Amino acid sequence: MALIFYPPTQSDETAVRQKTQEFYQKWILPTALEEDRKELFRRDLVSLFGKAGLIAQAISKDFGGGGGSYRCHYSVIEELAKGPIAFSVSISVSNLVMGGILTFGNETQKKTYLPKLTAGEWLGAFALSEPQSGSDAAGLMLRATKVPGGYSLTGNKSWCSSGGNADLYLVMGRTGEHKTKGISSFLVTQNTQGFRIGKREKKLGLKSSALTELIFENCFIPDSQLLGKEGAGFEIALSQLDTGRIGIGACGAGIATAAIERMQKELNGDFGKTCLFKESIAQQFSEYYARLQAIKLLITTASELKDKKQNIKVLAAQIKLLASDLAMEVSQDLVHFLGERGFQEEEQVERFFRDAKALQIVEGTNQIQQLVIAREMENMV
Ligand SMILES: Cc1cc2nc3c(=O)[nH]c(=O)nc-3n(C[C@H](O)[C@H](O)[C@H](O)COP(=O)(O)OP(=O)(O)OC[C@H]3O[C@@H](n4cnc5c(N)ncnc54)[C@H](O)[C@@H]3O)c2cc1C
Repeated sequence: MALIFYPPTQSDETAVRQKTQEFYQKWILPTALEEDRKELFRRDLVSLFGKAGLIAQAISKDFGGGGGSYRCHYSVIEELAKGPIAFSVSISVSNLVMGGILTFGNETQKKTYLPKLTAGEWLGAFALSEPQSGSDAAGLMLRATKVPGGYSLTGNKSWCSSGGNADLYLVMGRTGEHKTKGISSFLVTQNTQGFRIGKREKKLGLKSSALTELIFENCFIPDSQLLGKEGAGFEIALSQLDTGRIGIGACGAGIATAAIERMQKELNGDFGKTCLFKESIAQQFSEYYARLQAIKLLITTASELKDKKQNIKVLAAQIKLLASDLAMEVSQDLVHFLGERGFQEEEQVERFFRDAKALQIVEGTNQIQQLVIAREMENMV
């Protein structure tokens, strides 16, 4: 039995969720433990997933996408996040690159890159963070100097998800001195001369997703690879982060759903027969279920607003904040209440806990989400 949520999903979303679950059960779950241990990313699954038409639900059919429904897109991300979330995060990040190209790209860029990305032939990565600028993203220093016919990029990016596995990188670089308007966005393909992958990070969770440094040394990027106008890079990055934060919220909802369902199964089974404080666990998890229901409604509302191209900045920050905190709390309690079994790798419970922590940090830490919300509140009252 699965948890029930309201309102019931519409038929297109139900079909997409079912297809994603089938894919997940067949291709991701059986080898999840091994891939997490070996820190392996199944790049081949991206193509397979693309062929099933599930990678780019929110992208127009003209470019091979599912037709533009964010409701369906976030459903895919949520379903994939019910196990190891590395694949889900990689698909979500690739969609940031697609969204950037769709909204700000010229026709040539759209025709060149979108069909490859929507088909899963290519994977996209998003390179904003630098060693000295994570939360203060506008403090980035990667230099993009104007040269005849293009730009020369020099500097380093850090913590790039899918680094080394991706084919196309959306890279934010400094073209001017103004803190935000001096940033431009570039589309960089993996084999570009002067661009290479640096150190791969060892990390707590999201083990099978590569997280790497990117190194640019006098890397020539032709004018044709500038995305949008010169100086519009920060706006492009932020617009995609709004989309991405709902995706991170959907990952949190996926983890929380899987963790609550697992606890309920345990309470219904042998664990529940002997557990002395079954009632208090059930009470705690009933509250998590209520919070999850509320978050899922927020994701549905935000998706529908995005489908209508409305501003979702505050809602995206709220969803990311609430969902990642919920995923962390639920998974921590699941590990705790299952005792030594919860702590064991084979039970595939401790991974929820390790992966959930990443959601509180990635795409702006939760303190940054609080700042985004607080700044908008200043203009409200
Ligand atoms: C799993 C994972 C995947 C990632 N993938 C990508 C990616 O694909 N592309 C990319 O560009 N980046 C990526 N990142 C980087 C991520 O965006 C940054 O880690 C994040 O923005 C935080 O930056 P930081 O690590 O430099 O922390 P810092 O900015 O140094 O922050 C340190 C601490 O200070 C707090 N803090 C900072 N400023 C404030 C403030 N004003 N008020 C209150 N508290 C504050 C933060 O909340 C945090 O707790 C990834 C990170 C992780 C963990």
